[in-house]
Amino acid sequence: MIRTDLLIIGAGPTGLFGAYYAGFRGLSVAVMDSLPQPGGQITAMYPEKLIFDVAGFPAIKGQELVDRLVEQAGQFDPLYLLGHRAEKLDHGDDEVKVTSHQGLAVVAKAVLITGGIGMFSPRRLPVGQEYEGRGLRYFVPRLDELAGLDVLVVGGGDSAFDWALSLEPIARSVTLIHRRTRFRAHEHSVDRVRASRVRLLTPWEVRDVFGDPHVEGVEIHNTATDQREIVWVQAIVAALGFHADLGPLTRWGLKLRARHIQVDSAMRTNLPRVFAAGDIGDYDGKVKLIATGFGEAATAVNNAVPVIRPGAKVFPGHSSDAG
Ligand SMILES: Cc1cc2nc3c(=O)[nH]c(=O)nc-3n(C[C@H](O)[C@H](O)[C@H](O)COP(=O)(O)OP(=O)(O)OC[C@H]3O[C@@H](n4cnc5c(N)ncnc54)[C@H](O)[C@@H]3O)c2cc1C
Repeated sequence: MIRTDLLIIGAGPTGLFGAYYAGFRGLSVAVMDSLPQPGGQITAMYPEKLIFDVAGFPAIKGQELVDRLVEQAGQFDPLYLLGHRAEKLDHGDDEVKVTSHQGLAVVAKAVLITGGIGMFSPRRLPVGQEYEGRGLRYFVPRLDELAGLDVLVVGGGDSAFDWALSLEPIARSVTLIHRRTRFRAHEHSVDRVRASRVRLLTPWEVRDVFGDPHVEGVEIHNTATDQREIVWVQAIVAALGFHADLGPLTRWGLKLRARHIQVDSAMRTNLPRVFAAGDIGDYDGKVKLIATGFGEAATAVNNAVPVIRPGAKVFPGHSSDAG
């Protein structure tokens, strides 16, 4: 069993900044996430994209932002419990116990839920799923792993077009296929792909994946003309969207509105000692952005402090005075 002042559930940008703030307020903090790495949506879905609306950074790559958040929180040595899904919540008199799906119990004086859109998993490619980890991937946390390869990107949304554009300069070849002739991606990205050396094929779908043990090629099928073709690739990036699920959090007795946890202006939920911030928190006028999550994390942690240490102030003073 682990004891801590504050347990943060979710190691996305909001949770990571919350971990910094907890340390700054002198709290011990543990951060639990079901994914094997910190960074939430950023690391899982767009580590290579530039983000333009984080205060103080005219542009910053997703993974760099996450690395900096981890470094900032690292000053206070948070305990990371990665690969643990928060499954069960029990209330004691002046503490809360959260148990993970692996049976790890964390007893905390307060909990901050920064679970974003919940646990997310990619929509799977209907064929060739056995090649996952052997050439088929759903996320691309490190682009350079695909340098020099022939890559097939599958999908018609923003992610598919973003991956195709990011990979185009470093891959040997990039083919993007989509089963419809229309795309969900921004027109601008579609135009950029059309103007690039990416081979864009519609309406085609993947019929078979082959290779031993790694992907060596795919058979694709044109649904309009019934034509079939072999494309020789060593990597497939399936960008077909993802499922998001609040899962166990829906059974904790939290007041929910459309898969979000309702919070007040101090980021308190309806449950004692339980706060929520970031994408998962909801109130009138909510805007789901990284910048919003940062502010809410600071509000939540500072309001958790008097709950954890009765008599302590909500306002921490300024970090610039802390030396
Ligand atoms: C493609 C894309 C581009 C984007 N671009 C921008 C942008 O330019 N600017 C911007 O401001 N925002 C952008 N966003 C939105 C931004 O990523 C989110 O607002 C932000 O990630 C929310 O952070 P969070 O920490 O609240 O949640 P998340 O990043 O979703 O992190 C939540 C974490 O909680 C974990 N979790 C959930 N449930 C549990 C559980 N029961 N147990 C353990 N762990 C759990 C998840 O695994 C996840 O790691 C973009 C989003 C996408 C998908």
